[in-house]
Amino acid sequence: MILAVSNLKNPSPLSDGYRGRFAPSPTGPLHAGSLVAALGSWLDARKNGGKWLLRIEDVDTPRCVPGADQEILRQLLACGLQWDEKISWQSSHQERYQRALERLNTLKCLYPCTCSRQAISNTLAALGIETPRNQEVIYPGSCRPASILMNDLGNTPSQKLAWRLALPTGCQVEFEDLRLGHQQQNLNDQVGDFVLCRNDGLFTYQLAVVVDDAEQAITHVVRGVDLLSNTARQIHLQELLGYPRPQYLHLPLVLDEQGEKLSKQTLATTIHTQDAKQALQELRKAALHLGLRNLPAGDTTSIAEWLLAATHAWDYRSI
Ligand SMILES: [Zn+2]
Repeated sequence: MILAVSNLKNPSPLSDGYRGRFAPSPTGPLHAGSLVAALGSWLDARKNGGKWLLRIEDVDTPRCVPGADQEILRQLLACGLQWDEKISWQSSHQERYQRALERLNTLKCLYPCTCSRQAISNTLAALGIETPRNQEVIYPGSCRPASILMNDLGNTPSQKLAWRLALPTGCQVEFEDLRLGHQQQNLNDQVGDFVLCRNDGLFTYQLAVVVDDAEQAITHVVRGVDLLSNTARQIHLQELLGYPRPQYLHLPLVLDEQGEKLSKQTLATTIHTQDAKQALQELRKAALHLGLRNLPAGDTTSIAEWLLAATHAWDYRSI
């Protein structure tokens, strides 16, 4: 009875409060750029009295580097960025992704695609559409049937096929980013029908992240601006699957001297967290990038004291 009374006062404590996350891919250790995303999302959660969850995005298993996940955990702990709740591993969520795919199938918005990468660029070239290097290819809809029916997902033929999401015409997605303001993307023109399950059977990042954010009741997605162009796809999937839309805050990227995004291949961006002094030094660099000024500078400051001061100072509007 006591439980019932407290439930009345606070009917859904888990979904009411702020729930943020940091979701690194274990393709290498954290670098200067991913530490910025980790620190920014941690500070935003702590400032809001919320939870900060850690999700290892190891859904693209061939790209994962053995041991990188453990190294990331070690680096986060060395920096005092402690997570709440159990760590979530995407590689163990195949069933929930499959359920989401089946749900989309019942909505008649999935179709199989047998195109190779080469076939897609040939089709685009024949249409006179050039795709600049490093830009995503806009799928020309080659395999899309005239009318989409439910498919038999269980009866996969021996031929390798991917499952694509059929976008409705005029699929314009609009959202507010807390820092960048109003955003919009026309998914038909800028993305095309995108893949949810690859022809090697792996679920894609777009599907996995949407399903996991909903499963973990994430209310705030704080991440690097390199993921901004994925947000419209994720919102469209959330709407189809009936999930709530979290708030989005995209943080500025750390660029190298050539103005390129840092990658895990760039050795110069390695962060050093072997001892507390080094870890604090890395946190200070990340904080500067997040517009945090006037934080305790002395050598005698502990990481815990510094993080507390940074939490008080955190304000994404001053980035
Ligand atoms: Zn195709």
